[in-house]
Amino acid sequence: MYGDIARLLPEQHIRWNEPMKNHTSFRIGGPADCMVFPSTVSQVLEVVSWCRARGIPYLVIGKGSNLLVRDKGIRGVVIKLGEIFCDLTVTGNMLHAQAGALLSRAARLAAQHGLTGLEFAEGIPGSVGGAVFMNAGAYGGEMKDVVYEVQAMDDQGNLRTMQKPELGFGYRRSVFQDNGFVILAVHMALQPGNTEEIRERMAEFARRREEKQPLEFPSAGSTFKRPEGYFVGPLIEELGLKGLQVGGAQISAKHAGFIINTGNAKAADVLELIRIVQARVRESKGIDLQPEIRIVGED
Ligand SMILES: Cc1cc2nc3c(=O)[nH]c(=O)nc-3n(C[C@H](O)[C@H](O)[C@H](O)COP(=O)(O)OP(=O)(O)OC[C@H]3O[C@@H](n4cnc5c(N)ncnc54)[C@H](O)[C@@H]3O)c2cc1C
Repeated sequence: MYGDIARLLPEQHIRWNEPMKNHTSFRIGGPADCMVFPSTVSQVLEVVSWCRARGIPYLVIGKGSNLLVRDKGIRGVVIKLGEIFCDLTVTGNMLHAQAGALLSRAARLAAQHGLTGLEFAEGIPGSVGGAVFMNAGAYGGEMKDVVYEVQAMDDQGNLRTMQKPELGFGYRRSVFQDNGFVILAVHMALQPGNTEEIRERMAEFARRREEKQPLEFPSAGSTFKRPEGYFVGPLIEELGLKGLQVGGAQISAKHAGFIINTGNAKAADVLELIRIVQARVRESKGIDLQPEIRIVGED
């Protein structure tokens, strides 16, 4: 069924039955039928058109740092934009990134060029494309503050240039969560600053993460979105759920807002913890916690 996809990319850029746990920061997830690693925009276009023509589902991912892939894996084609789709350049105050570029590399390049605005991104372990999709943010900054324009491929395979007002940014939201477009490149407008000061701020953010977050275990960052007026960690802690374990998954004893993989967690273990937390928080506070992590694949 998938055989002739091999015409579109070099053999070494296609994998079959690829374990998703090798492509997620959670280290969890069953196999993807097919995974491709395009290196050019035209390869992305061709793969998407190929899938669309055959009614084969496809999913674009970056670093998999906000993904929980279910245990039976992903039917269809996973298009991974990563190490070979990751150019970064600076012109004046603008930073241009291909979607697969690491956000933290973009932040370090900005610092090197004395450009301020992207310091918040230090320690967010995703790609620039994933960061736009999620409107990733931390320490008072978010992608919305720096994104100027995005190049994307729409659901008909047309290339589009989208300006910030069209991007539908909100708290951990962007229009890409609804429209199924593929983010190809991101242009960020930064401000002139002082390299040393920028680096100091980034080091301070890294220190705070180290101190508060369970970075020594695989996870996908904050499990839930922050409900208005509350912080998720203390809310979960107050209910006595910190440290709760199901199979190999645990509500981190260091930061209850994170679920960690203590070794051999299954997606089912994480999903059960999510269910327990949601039920307890609903019961005791009347709040509907929504996952921030994106849950994909088959049970
Ligand atoms: C230790 C840790 C700390 C974290 N800290 C933070 C934090 O402080 N703030 C924060 O906001 N997040 C944080 N995260 C979560 C995560 O790093 C961000 O959400 C990140 O932006 C996801 O990028 P990614 O490339 O890994 O996306 P992925 O996980 O690969 O994908 C996430 C979603 O984006 C879609 N997507 C990815 N790339 C594209 C593309 N090119 N075109 C269209 N859709 C695409 C995917 O389909 C998926 O739905 C943290 C995660 C970890 C593990």
